[in-house]
Amino acid sequence: MTALSNFDTYLKTKFKVSETPLIIENAISYIANGTQPDETSNIKYIAIDNWIKQILGFWAIELIEEDLGNAKFHGKLVPKRNGFNLFLNSSLFPTQRRFALAHELGHLVSFDTTFEWPKYVVKHSWNEELFCNQVARGILLPKIIFDTLNINLQNVDSINYTLFAQIWKEYLVSPLQIIRRLYDLYINKNVSTIIWKHSKDDNCLRIFDYCKNNNYFIPLRKRKILNDLIQQEGTNNLPQIAFNSNGFIKDYDLVSFGSFYKKRMMTYAFPIHTIMDTYIVQTIFDSDENGVFDDSK
Ligand SMILES: [Zn+2]
Repeated sequence: MTALSNFDTYLKTKFKVSETPLIIENAISYIANGTQPDETSNIKYIAIDNWIKQILGFWAIELIEEDLGNAKFHGKLVPKRNGFNLFLNSSLFPTQRRFALAHELGHLVSFDTTFEWPKYVVKHSWNEELFCNQVARGILLPKIIFDTLNINLQNVDSINYTLFAQIWKEYLVSPLQIIRRLYDLYINKNVSTIIWKHSKDDNCLRIFDYCKNNNYFIPLRKRKILNDLIQQEGTNNLPQIAFNSNGFIKDYDLVSFGSFYKKRMMTYAFPIHTIMDTYIVQTIFDSDENGVFDDSK
């Protein structure tokens, strides 16, 4: 048997679907052997953690937590006779630990377990790692949450923006992963989302991460400071307003994506407060009502 070179082709063949959201959901169902977390449980993240324990049992995975020193090394799934060892770095934060564990479960799809010693049947790739992150989000944030709450990035409004904070608290998954899960689940071709993080050291907002429309370029990841954007480009003041007002903001704004675009676009911004930090989530998209803003006028 030769290792398959293209991970995406491997997934499509294995799960017999071609759309990414379906591949993820089918992969989770495969990993969970068709089981689901207990929806009646009052404490959502504990229901998910119990479900994960069940999955570990099903695949005969032994969880081994070790101080692996390098903080960049989160975990590793290693086959053994009739099962696996899952090594986790014991120095992770609770949210990181849960994510790393769920990520490693994603790698199960890459093994043929009909062999006594599970056989890794793909060629390792960056795509596999991205896929495992998608699976991790899917395990930690089941699709039913978003179906039930009817929340997606295009219908965020002043009523349901608090749901983000609620989901974060109930499921112990970072706001960034909640946003990414929405991108995994729904094909938000025209929506870009920027997550700003308040830096306590210099009291300003910086771009923490983003999910973007392929047509756009968002500059200077991690280094771009909101104040610089406002001063140099006269734009993106909405996150600052959202931060100061501590509420939901909806407006048109002159949005700059790199040096090529300056358009009036619809943007929403709202804060998410965690115990440690404040984030501003800014969603940006073209609406039917506005065209390209002519910067020369
Ligand atoms: Zn991995």
